[in-house]
Amino acid sequence: MVDANMPALFIGHGSPMNAIEDNEFSLAWQEAARQIPQPKAILCISAHWETLGTQVTAMEAPRTIHDFYGFPRPLFEKQYPAPGSPELAARIVELVGESKVMPDHSWGLDHGTWSVLCRMYPQADVPVVQLSLDRTLDPAGHYALSQRLRQLRQEGVLVMGSGNIVHNLRMMVWEDAAFDWAFEYDAKVKQWILEEDHDAIIHYEKYGKPAMLSVNSAEHYLPLLYVLGLKEKDEPVSFFAEKIWGGSLSMRCVSIG
Ligand code: ZN
Repeated sequence: MVDANMPALFIGHGSPMNAIEDNEFSLAWQEAARQIPQPKAILCISAHWETLGTQVTAMEAPRTIHDFYGFPRPLFEKQYPAPGSPELAARIVELVGESKVMPDHSWGLDHGTWSVLCRMYPQADVPVVQLSLDRTLDPAGHYALSQRLRQLRQEGVLVMGSGNIVHNLRMMVWEDAAFDWAFEYDAKVKQWILEEDHDAIIHYEKYGKPAMLSVNSAEHYLPLLYVLGLKEKDEPVSFFAEKIWGGSLSMRCVSIG
């Protein structure tokens, strides 16, 4: 069955400007979409939607949310009018369990989702659903939740986590060099992904200071766990962007399957 699976992707999304700028990252996302079968629908777990209890967007027409400040007007004018999928939302509730995920009718697509998808699927013709990050779950809980979604890959759904493996905005610098701890932790996570040592990635705090600085606010790290939780044993893994940007932001993108 592994061959029939849709790949699962983790996208290091970085700045919202990637939505409207042609650069090595936005072009890599575009190319990644070309390399995989056309999905029937997309489920995105974005760093930018945190809730109490897990929620899933269930509206027919999700709005484009401009959840950032201080960027140029064209970015605020950008719309991503992809349809929602109440059917996929219902399927997710079925797979995860009614008591564990609530349908949502007020969120939409935040920039963690649309700034990437507008490059991957510029026609906005693939239905998109978002799953929130439940603040009450620990990393192991997020990983376990994603394992319940494995079936979606066989149903033609592209599951995508959108965050950044290393994300520390307070330490950001406007130069093209990486902090040692950022470089070290990003490389460590790459190694763990290749070795399939998901436990080490879940219990990142055990790695000490480089991990604590890199996973400064866990919401950008957790979407990676949703992607890794979908991995079948011995499935191939590849990386389609690998760079530390602004000193403390890893743009690493991961493809599974
Ligand atoms: Zn972000």
